Amino acid sequence: MRVLKSLAELRKWRQQQSEVALVPTMGNLHDGHLHLVKTALERCDNVVVSIFVNPMQFGANEDLDSYPRTLEADCQALDALGVSAVFTPQVSDVYPRGLDKQTRIEVPGISDILCGASRPGHFTGVATIVCKLFNMVQPQLAVFGEKDYQQLQVIRLMTQDLSLPVEVLGAPTQRETSGLAMSSRNGYLSPEQKQQAAALYRTLQKTKVELSVSTNFSELEKAAEEDLSQAGFVPDYFSIRNAKDLQEATAEDPEWVVLAAAFMGKTRLIDNLRVSNTSAR
Ligand code: AMP
Repeated sequence: MRVLKSLAELRKWRQQQSEVALVPTMGNLHDGHLHLVKTALERCDNVVVSIFVNPMQFGANEDLDSYPRTLEADCQALDALGVSAVFTPQVSDVYPRGLDKQTRIEVPGISDILCGASRPGHFTGVATIVCKLFNMVQPQLAVFGEKDYQQLQVIRLMTQDLSLPVEVLGAPTQRETSGLAMSSRNGYLSPEQKQQAAALYRTLQKTKVELSVSTNFSELEKAAEEDLSQAGFVPDYFSIRNAKDLQEATAEDPEWVVLAAAFMGKTRLIDNLRVSNTSAR
């Protein structure tokens, strides 16, 4: 496995390859990430994993500095899976003119709702880095997790809007036995908080069951937020949306997605669950 530490090294390596699949990550890899890599390997022998903690997608008071960085262990896990290359550029290589002057990618309509409302500028940072990674790596295929559902939809829209020649593939959320979605940020939780945090997925599942008999979305959302508070969370949002464009749900939507963000102590966790509307024609 090659470890490519600069854009120059990546470009040189890329010239010798034909097809490439890309799995973008911020590192501190867990089984959720590794599942994306396995999905990519099923489709393409030549997989590149990028590991880059992207400062542009972090807000001023967020965890950029404390975000876990475990490059050595990450590389070992990726090597064992049969990844061809890991791309770990420096911030100065990715943003040579600095963050303020960097050309940005805005995906309107979807970037300022839900997580985008709580984290202004976050999805601009995500869209910009993913667009740059697509241009750097020039993959035919890129795999992203459904765990970050809004992110996945932002990337799909960006890819479509900018006519980027990349197939964007979503892979299902990997969970702990408790149901808690795997996340690098779970490492911030105490063992007790981790146990409590499983209530996030349970609440999504409960709402899914309720959606088979009710389309009173605001009532379901309110009940779920109460359940989350009872379980020790401070809810940020709990929202039932159209699964495609993430606009407010209607009874006619063929598919919904129930999305939640909530604080367990200082740690903000997100999760979601898709629900098909069995009454829609
Ligand atoms: P991150 O390193 O958190 O930026 O995540 C990199 C990629 O891994 C993104 O496409 C995430 O959606 C995906 N991912 C993170 N956690 C999970 C999970 N539990 N299951 C599936 N994919 C995940």
